[in-house]
Amino acid sequence: MGEFDLIRRHFQRAPSTHNAGAVVLGIGDDCALLQPRPGHQLAISSDMLVVGRHFFADVNPEALGHKALAVNLSDLAAMGARPLGFTLALALPHADDDWLSAFASGMFALADAHACPLVGGDTTRGPLNICITVFGEVLPDRALRRDAARVGDDLYVSGCTGEARLALEHLRGSDWAAAAQGADLRARLERPTPRNALGASLAEAGARAAIDVSDGLLGDLGHILLASGVGAELRVAWLPSAPALQTLPEKQRLECLLAGGDDYELLFTAPTSARAAVKAAAALSRTPVTRIGRTVAGSGVALRDEKGQTVPFEARSFDHFA
Ligand code: ADP
Ligand code: MG
Repeated sequence: MGEFDLIRRHFQRAPSTHNAGAVVLGIGDDCALLQPRPGHQLAISSDMLVVGRHFFADVNPEALGHKALAVNLSDLAAMGARPLGFTLALALPHADDDWLSAFASGMFALADAHACPLVGGDTTRGPLNICITVFGEVLPDRALRRDAARVGDDLYVSGCTGEARLALEHLRGSDWAAAAQGADLRARLERPTPRNALGASLAEAGARAAIDVSDGLLGDLGHILLASGVGAELRVAWLPSAPALQTLPEKQRLECLLAGGDDYELLFTAPTSARAAVKAAAALSRTPVTRIGRTVAGSGVALRDEKGQTVPFEARSFDHFA
């Protein structure tokens, strides 16, 4: 199977799967042509998944196809942008038909669910490496920018954090994660759900700043705070905690909740006047949302218990070069 056969067989699909209107020209030419709606800005993001770094070499290829696109869609969600399409740059050690079919089926199932067609890419031989770039559209004054939080905003998180980290510890054989079994937990690590419906509804609802939680809640919150020039008070007892985390020793439970990573939940701020609108956005998108604190003047995060006392926790966030 040559390079062009491979692309035709696994990645080129009928134009009927295209995002009507937005994709003027898909795979097959030198460039794809995309047409955002009048008045919209393009939202663009790339995420790369590298074997041995982001996933194990023997990972289920169907799940890998899902995750490679999910982490990119999640960035559009965190901007409040609607997906238009994506490109796929792929390095493969060899062309394995079964592997490619499974990878493509995981990826396209999610792409179809979000009306986000594959419009181009590049294919080369090399150590397994998957780089997806997503393109979306958003109205200029609606984008959920990291620098948009203001002092006195409510702070929210979607779903709950920590399960992906617990699943990872289980796969690594950590003794404290020994009890953490089950397909659901593993799915949280390998098949994350990007929160695009919520992100789009929040942009409408008047939310201010947002980020998707990929490197741990505290670390990612830090990016919003730094960009916005504000601090935050986080109520640890208000953090939604999945049943799988309840039996963990408190130290490990907090580690999962606050510094877990790979959650792909949305962490966002909104003015207190938007509480009803945020609730409606959560209901409309069928996504649970929990208020977990507020932004304050200053910098950094203060962790507080129910009584307002400081909770000791050393924040560490994932950094590839630290
Ligand atoms: P070029 O020589 O311009 O780089 P290629 O020969 O690499 O073009 O690719 C031919 C066409 O196939 C282009 O439209 C390109 O976008 C598309 N393509 C290549 N690899 C992929 C891929 N992995 N997924 C989707 N489209 C791809
Ligand atoms: Mg090329």
